[in-house]
Amino acid sequence: MEPEYIQLVKQTEICKNCTNIVVGKGNPNADILFVGEAPGRNEDLQGEPFVGAAGKNLDALLAKVGLSLNDVYIANILKCRPPENRNPLPEEIKAHTPWLLAQISEIKPKVVCSLGNYATKFFLAKTSVDEMKNQPGITTVHGKPKQIEINGLKIKLIPLFHPAAIIYNQSLKTEWEKDMEIVKKELSQSVLF
Ligand code: URA
Repeated sequence: MEPEYIQLVKQTEICKNCTNIVVGKGNPNADILFVGEAPGRNEDLQGEPFVGAAGKNLDALLAKVGLSLNDVYIANILKCRPPENRNPLPEEIKAHTPWLLAQISEIKPKVVCSLGNYATKFFLAKTSVDEMKNQPGITTVHGKPKQIEINGLKIKLIPLFHPAAIIYNQSLKTEWEKDMEIVKKELSQSVLF
């Protein structure tokens, strides 16, 4: 029998219409988890998150602060590509995030970096999808660490701009690099405990 969180994903329309379910990539023992929004076209075809243009940018941004796929795990709020990359619907987020929460229980990251508005609002809303609409946006909260608890795990949430938003925006790139210094500081502190 498949776990319920997988069955929930498979029952959604976007899952019936996708090429691959995109679970995650990287080191499942990493201290740091990056959470994006949803697979795009390339991710859907290859079955891996962040392999398209946003992914190339994420790789470059990570490399700049000395991090590689060995040091991090990367997943998404949605496990399947929405048609034409439209925004995730609340019902889809409700059906797909139990899988993400199971991944968090497994990986036990010390730091979660939410990439963009959807992942950030999901965690700020303490994983209540109905409360996401009442949360501040990424422009307000990026780079501001917040202690959260997920399934009994104490985690430092650090919201970051989505790498796709940074591709053509040099000032956001500068902000991202500053925010990543905060990520590195939190990581170096958290591994002491
Ligand atoms: N954007 C995301 O949020 N996730 C991906 O996997 C690719 C692009």
